[in-house]
Amino acid sequence: MFELTFLGTGASVPSAARNVSALLVEQGGRRFLVDCGEGTQRQIMAAGVGFRRLDTVLLTHGHLDHILGLGGLAGTLNLWQAVERLRILAGPAPLELARRLLLDVVWPGGRPGRLALEFVPIAPGPLIEDGRFRLSAFPVRHAAPDCLGFRFDLLPHRPLLADRLAELGVPPGPERSRLARGEAVRLPDGRRVDPEAVTGPPQGGVSVAVVGDAETVDDLVEHVRGADLLVIEASFMAADAEQARAHSHLTVADAVNLARAAGIGRLCLNHQSSRYREGAVAAEAAALFQGARVVSDFERVRVP
Ligand SMILES: [Zn+2]
Ligand SMILES: [Zn+2]
Repeated sequence: MFELTFLGTGASVPSAARNVSALLVEQGGRRFLVDCGEGTQRQIMAAGVGFRRLDTVLLTHGHLDHILGLGGLAGTLNLWQAVERLRILAGPAPLELARRLLLDVVWPGGRPGRLALEFVPIAPGPLIEDGRFRLSAFPVRHAAPDCLGFRFDLLPHRPLLADRLAELGVPPGPERSRLARGEAVRLPDGRRVDPEAVTGPPQGGVSVAVVGDAETVDDLVEHVRGADLLVIEASFMAADAEQARAHSHLTVADAVNLARAAGIGRLCLNHQSSRYREGAVAAEAAALFQGARVVSDFERVRVP
C-alpha cells in the first residue's frame, strides 16, 4: 500500500488556502518528499507526519514553487537532528539550484552541522530497486530543464503455498525465503524445487505515478500506463487552454485525457491556481472523469 499526504497543492505562489508544491509518498518504512516548496517544513508539522526518516527528496523540476522550501527544511533537520543525512535526487539543472541554495546561501562555504547532504543527479530510468519496491523516473516537458516525473511500484509477488511446501517437504528456513524470491532450491536430499511448483499466481502489485508541472501529456502515456493512481497538475480550466499552453501548464482536460489513455482509474489533481473560485476546478474534473478529484492541503490518500 502507498499512502500519500498532500502538503502543498497550490500553483506558483502560496495562498491562504493552499501552500506551494510538496507531496509525501510513503510505503512501508520508506518516505519520499516529492518537491519542497516554500513553507513545506511547516506543512509537515501541521499535517502531523513528522520528520523522522524524512531523508529523501525528489525534485520534479527547479521552479521556485517546487524547491524554495529546501533551505528551511534542511536547516530544521540539521538543528533537530531528525535525520542523519538528506539526499536530494533531481535532474542536473534543478539539482544544481538545490545545491546552490543549500551550499551557497544556507551554509555558505561550510558544512551544515551534523546533517550530511547528498546531491544525487538522476536521469530517466530506474532509481531504486529493492525487493518488491521500485522507484523510477521519466522525462516530462515543461518550461524548465531536466524535468522528471516519478513512478512508485510495489511489484506483484507470488505467494508461497503452504500445502505445496508441505507436500514437497520444503523445510522452514532459507530454502523458503529463496523460493519466495523466485529462486530454485536444492533440498538436503538432492531434489530440486522450482518456485513455480510452490507459489500461487502473482498478486498485490500497486503503482503510483507523480507528474509535477507539465506542458504536454502525449509523451507521458507509456510512463504512467496502468498506474493505480496518477497525481498531476491541473493549473487551468478548459476555457483557459490557450493560457495553459502559453504558461507551459496543463488543463483539467489534459490530465483527464492522460488518465484515460493510460488506463488509470484514479486521478488526483494538484497545483491549483487561486484565479479560480474554490470548487470550480473540482466540478469540471468530476464532470469529465469519475475518478478525478482536486486534492487539498493535508489530504491523505491511500492506494491499497
Ligand atoms: Zn509549479
Ligand atoms: Zn514549473
